[in-house]
Amino acid sequence: MTNHEYDRTTLYIDGQWVAPAATGTIDVVDPATEEVIGHVPGGTEADVDVAVAAARRAFDPLIGVDERRQRLDAVITAMEKRLPQIAETITREMGAPIRISQTVQTQVPLAVARGFADALADFEFSERIGNSLVVREPYGVVSAITPWNYPLYQVVAKVLPAIAAGCTVVLKPSNEAPLSVFEFVEALDDAGLPPGVVNLVSGPGSVIGERMAAHPDVDFVSFTGSTEVGARVGELAGRNIKKVALELGGKSANVILDGADLATAVRVGVGNAFLNGGQTCMAWTRMLVPLSRYSEALDLVAAAVAKYTVGDPWDPATRIGPSASQRQFETVLGFIERASRDGARLVAGGPEKIRDTGYYVAPTVFADVLPDSDLGQEEVFGPVLAVIPFRDSDEALEIANGTPYGLSGAVWAADDDTAIAFARQVQTGQLDINGGKYNPAAPFGGYKKSGVGRELGRFGFEEYLQTKSLQLP
Ligand code: NAD
Repeated sequence: MTNHEYDRTTLYIDGQWVAPAATGTIDVVDPATEEVIGHVPGGTEADVDVAVAAARRAFDPLIGVDERRQRLDAVITAMEKRLPQIAETITREMGAPIRISQTVQTQVPLAVARGFADALADFEFSERIGNSLVVREPYGVVSAITPWNYPLYQVVAKVLPAIAAGCTVVLKPSNEAPLSVFEFVEALDDAGLPPGVVNLVSGPGSVIGERMAAHPDVDFVSFTGSTEVGARVGELAGRNIKKVALELGGKSANVILDGADLATAVRVGVGNAFLNGGQTCMAWTRMLVPLSRYSEALDLVAAAVAKYTVGDPWDPATRIGPSASQRQFETVLGFIERASRDGARLVAGGPEKIRDTGYYVAPTVFADVLPDSDLGQEEVFGPVLAVIPFRDSDEALEIANGTPYGLSGAVWAADDDTAIAFARQVQTGQLDINGGKYNPAAPFGGYKKSGVGRELGRFGFEEYLQTKSLQLP
């Protein structure tokens, strides 16, 4: 493979690939080789303004449901054709093992996309409440700002419900993994969407992202990323009273109550924590275990972790590739070093270099993690699991709820009713009960500092609708 095979010099605005207003570019680095593999344009505020104007022109508040359905179906068909190529690009740009790129990174977005088609098919756009006719209308022009960890999924979770609702979009991908998003936008172009319905602008978050959040002619800002940047986006959007949806960080707890099937809970929990190299916002990064079964659990964790092969993301046997970027790699190593200093006990992995080239981190487990330490509180976004013992279920609940986040989690117990009763008390947006499986149509989103609003399925679709009441005579 040659360098710079992924050079992109144009933005997608008003149905055309057009030169950006300035000549700046952003390097895209393969985290497995540390080589620059391509560039995308470093757009400017002027590019955002042109894209928002195109999106505004394309917005028709009276667009029919049939037209939306046709657009959505065409997009899903065009996207599906490009998934094999997009999977390879994702592995190249952010290091996800190819097996993960071909499954979770691309098939889950397809399932999510179909979930929006189902939501649209079943949706009642008007209802009577007394003498009022309540109608649901497309929200308007949407700014969609996305991160690098699941580059296609994050974009699909915003752009597809926007199309289903009849909104128009200005999309900004991450700087770390923008190339797969350019390929997704090529699929939108193949689908023959009318000009301006979806526009793509790449560039620095501090320039492009801030303009998209603050732009006076944007109606809704949908952001996924870190809690810190989400707060800034919310602040900028709030000044113009825009609707905001924020999907932010997490520090989710996998709570294994006394009487649970410990072996299954540990095996599934380790798999969840290390999925995509731990770069998953909903990862269960804290494993809460009863003190009475603590040493048994640690033995099971060590045995499970030993199966997580780290290495070349193109090897189908690899389960963990490199961290997605140098910045992320250094952040993860910093957490590992601080955890040891804070008195946590290293059970597996550690900070040692495991390859000369590439941002590889060994799957790492710490036991005896103090709930209020950095590792017990902060999102690492790498393959680092914190195991925390508890004395009884009251203490388990206190620890589970004892972070600023509330995105995801799991509860395992002797029976489902006990697990559900516990889960009802956890301040978090989504919980798996005794191994209940992922549902791409179920609402997903955060309590507390994990965010505002919900994505996926009918709930995610409804975020893109405005509500109007007509009082009938
Ligand atoms: P990030 O917050 O640094 O960046 C996210 C996006 O915002 C990128 O496109 C970035 O360019 C842009 N951005 C940066 N500064 C900006 C600014 N000042 N104004 C507007 N936009 C700006 O996050 P990241 O490092 O790309 O992603 C990792 C984080 O995302 C993690 O904290 C993770 O938990 C979170 N995340 C959350 C979810 C979720 O659904 N809740 C999903 C994936 C990732």
